[in-house]
Amino acid sequence: MFTEFSVPAPIVFGCGAISVLGERAKGLGCKKVLLICEKGIEDAGIVEKAKKSLDEAGVGYVVYNGVLADPPDSCVDEAAALAKEQNADGIVGIGGGSSLDTAKATSILFTNPGPVRQYIQGPPIFVDTKAPLILVPTTAGTGSESTTVAVISLPDLNVKWSVFVNVSLALIDPELMFSVPKSITATTGMDAFAHAAEGMTTILANPHSDLFAAAAIEKITKYLPVCCDEPDNAEARSAMALAANWGGLCINNPIVHVGHAIADALSCNFHTAHGQNCALALPAAMAVIAPAVPERISVIAKAMGLPLTGKETGEELGKIVADGIRELMRKVGIKSLKEMGFEREKVLSFAPEVTANHLSTLGPVKIDEATATKLLAEVYDDYQ
Ligand code: NAD
Repeated sequence: MFTEFSVPAPIVFGCGAISVLGERAKGLGCKKVLLICEKGIEDAGIVEKAKKSLDEAGVGYVVYNGVLADPPDSCVDEAAALAKEQNADGIVGIGGGSSLDTAKATSILFTNPGPVRQYIQGPPIFVDTKAPLILVPTTAGTGSESTTVAVISLPDLNVKWSVFVNVSLALIDPELMFSVPKSITATTGMDAFAHAAEGMTTILANPHSDLFAAAAIEKITKYLPVCCDEPDNAEARSAMALAANWGGLCINNPIVHVGHAIADALSCNFHTAHGQNCALALPAAMAVIAPAVPERISVIAKAMGLPLTGKETGEELGKIVADGIRELMRKVGIKSLKEMGFEREKVLSFAPEVTANHLSTLGPVKIDEATATKLLAEVYDDYQ
């Protein structure tokens, strides 16, 4: 039995790293890049820093700022049309996961005919993209800068689907994250936690991703509350930027499992933040798999600093970790489904979507509709 672990692209990391964007784009042969972002990132002054670096290196740019949360395929088609009209030869995605995933999917249309939907609808495929693609995260959450997957919504079908592409460079500057508001810091940080915890418990988990997962969980438990309380704390923001990147590296091969299947159902139906949904789903996801992989759950508990006797059953370990995650969620202010005004019965009705999601097959236990209903009930009832 072999395992596989790959790092999609080189990673440049550190405060101020945005200053090398231009020279790195030039080094990749770019003369004019398509800068993909959403309006909020422009308003936060972050795109200006990218433009400055590109100007200094003599690399031209055109900005597409129409990215929407949980990006729909229409954003990708729009961005690609602009790139074609403006003769862009490379792409810089700058922002949260929504902007990075739009950039990734847009790279498909630099050398392939559109619309992008034809590459997304159906079982996930890899498209051998050619355009230079630099990804600059501004949230410490998705780790999308170091995964090959782009997650794109098809709103008319009420689904989020995936496509895999090449990435040229991940450029991580924690200073770009100082402006992330507290609630988004919390939800995106919990997304990174979910990557680590789910990534190390899928059936594709491997020794390399385990390393990143445990280290990410340790850092997130310690530093996420600090980032929420002290947004300009460079040490804490750097730690979270690293942890989020490690979360991304962790899931690049093992992917994620039922927690994300539940989160996708919540995202598609309630349009609440991806990280929020991942956080809400995670305790129940950990508890249901714990009897199947108790040694892995105990690694997570130890990384969180939770006291263990070493004699716990799998079920007990699951409860300890689920309670520990809920405590962290309360500490950073994650809102419950009830608080947000959602009905329990509506949440339970998502069971068929959770079961049908291919991610549900990647965990160590079978998720049938009865199990999915039980999990959704726990997501609603056990965190209020
Ligand atoms: P997001 O990209 O939707 O951004 C959320 C909000 O944060 C936006 O309003 C944005 O304006 C704001 N924001 C971002 N950076 C900011 C900054 N520095 N200052 C001020 N505001 C800032 O949220 P996200 O959680 O980063 O990404 C979620 C998306 O990523 C989902 O679509 C999810 O499916 C996807 N995702 C992809 C991967 C992957 O590996 N490709 C992994 C996990 C999630």
